Amino acid sequence: MAAQNLEILMSLAKRRGFIFPSADIYGGASGLFDMGPLGVELANNLKKLWWQTFIYGRRDMVGVDTAIITPSAVLKASGHVDSFSDPLIECANCRIRLRADHFEIGEGEAGWQARWAQECAKHAKRSEVSAKDREKAATAFAYFTENHQEATFWQAITCPACGERQFTEPRQFNMMFKTNLGAVESDTNVAYLRPETAQGIFVNFANVVDTSRLKVPFGIGQIGKAFRNEITVGNSLFRVRELEQAEIEFFVKPGEDEVWHEKWIDLLEDFCVNTLGLKKENLRRYAHPKEKLSHYSKGTTDLEYNYPFGGYQELAGIANRTDYDLKQHQEHSKQDLSYFEEATKERFQPFTIEPSLGIGRAILAVLVDAFQDYPEGRDGSGEAETVLHLAPKLAPYRLAILPLMKKDGLAEKAEEIWDQLAGDYNIAYDTSGSVGKRYRRQDEVGTPFCVTVDYQTLEDGTVTLRDRDSMEQVRLSVAAVREKITSL
Ligand code: ATP
Repeated sequence: MAAQNLEILMSLAKRRGFIFPSADIYGGASGLFDMGPLGVELANNLKKLWWQTFIYGRRDMVGVDTAIITPSAVLKASGHVDSFSDPLIECANCRIRLRADHFEIGEGEAGWQARWAQECAKHAKRSEVSAKDREKAATAFAYFTENHQEATFWQAITCPACGERQFTEPRQFNMMFKTNLGAVESDTNVAYLRPETAQGIFVNFANVVDTSRLKVPFGIGQIGKAFRNEITVGNSLFRVRELEQAEIEFFVKPGEDEVWHEKWIDLLEDFCVNTLGLKKENLRRYAHPKEKLSHYSKGTTDLEYNYPFGGYQELAGIANRTDYDLKQHQEHSKQDLSYFEEATKERFQPFTIEPSLGIGRAILAVLVDAFQDYPEGRDGSGEAETVLHLAPKLAPYRLAILPLMKKDGLAEKAEEIWDQLAGDYNIAYDTSGSVGKRYRRQDEVGTPFCVTVDYQTLEDGTVTLRDRDSMEQVRLSVAAVREKITSL
């Protein structure tokens, strides 16, 4: 997607009520977003599809919804209190902070330079990267490649914001939001907003085993908010401080972990392509090199999406967390978190495979993939049009009902049909402007079908059903419309 189209998409997302900056009337809050009336529908549909696929669609899975505020003991055991941090460099002159690991040599010259040039543009408040930004990025990169082994090389890199050369050495910065449980602030009641939904699942492992009839291999899924005080945020929902994750902890017998890891990479990719409708050519797998793995991981593969800002970046991660988390919680809580396998009479600590999908990043990918701009229009009118070719099950409105006119009882008839069809999905109702304009308004937000109520409807009860993508129109009874949209 071209930068110009990204801008059109982002302004559409705000103008049509998908995504709003949080606390907008106070100038917004960095890294926080609110979902508008259409955004919440898209997000709910996406989460529903995930839940249907992985919880309802599998006999070996159950869901949970665990507390967001997490006592320190849990996150101490998981390692987050001591090591959930990112390396931070700070410009001593203008105080901007950047993630040092975003500027590592591993991603290659093009990626590094693109990121740096983007930072230059962002801090100069330009929406597009200019030739000057690229020049600065090239100089910084040349310096970086020549000197990156030296202890002081950060200090010689030109700051993308102010142009000075005064970066500090990388320092570790813990990204968790800290609070206290109860009125008194003390070391004994420290808690954090969870940085991932996973730990709520691990601490409930024994509860779920005791209360369900599941046997290893089985999984527990959860969708919920997580919070990370990211050093730098940006690119809309891509990097935010309050995020939403759809995570599964899938418990397997040690020794079977690698096979299940591969299986879950395939399953999550299949969900992205065949259920969310992302184009396969915009997705790729990235296996983390051993030296870059998190402290708990034996192997992690990311599904990367080709975002229009900065190219392929993480959409989801599938990690083999080994028996690390259950062991840690067993040791710290002094509770038995092992598993007894009846069939073999063996007791063991299961390994965990974790497929983790960011809801916000999935929404962004879905919007980018669905967006299509038609500068000359699609019907020969010469008028520019935008269509979101969303998978129908994701679309904020499944259907729009449009009376041809407000008069002659057409609006009343359309409202009657709306009442008949409403309940199971979101239906738009629009009476203003020509029907052509109304079709375009619906195309722009991805509504897969429009129903037009006209004079013939008053006579024989049939309506026109128009398809967003083919623009074909057919005459159907209201019952047939219902069948068509429920059978999707
Ligand atoms: P990154 O390397 O981009 O910081 P991560 O490896 O820390 O991501 P995970 O801890 O694996 O991310 O989290 C699982 C998923 O949660 C990610 O694949 C991503 O989709 C989402 N996610 C993580 N951090 C953020 C964030 N700050 N904003 C939006 N989504 C996020």
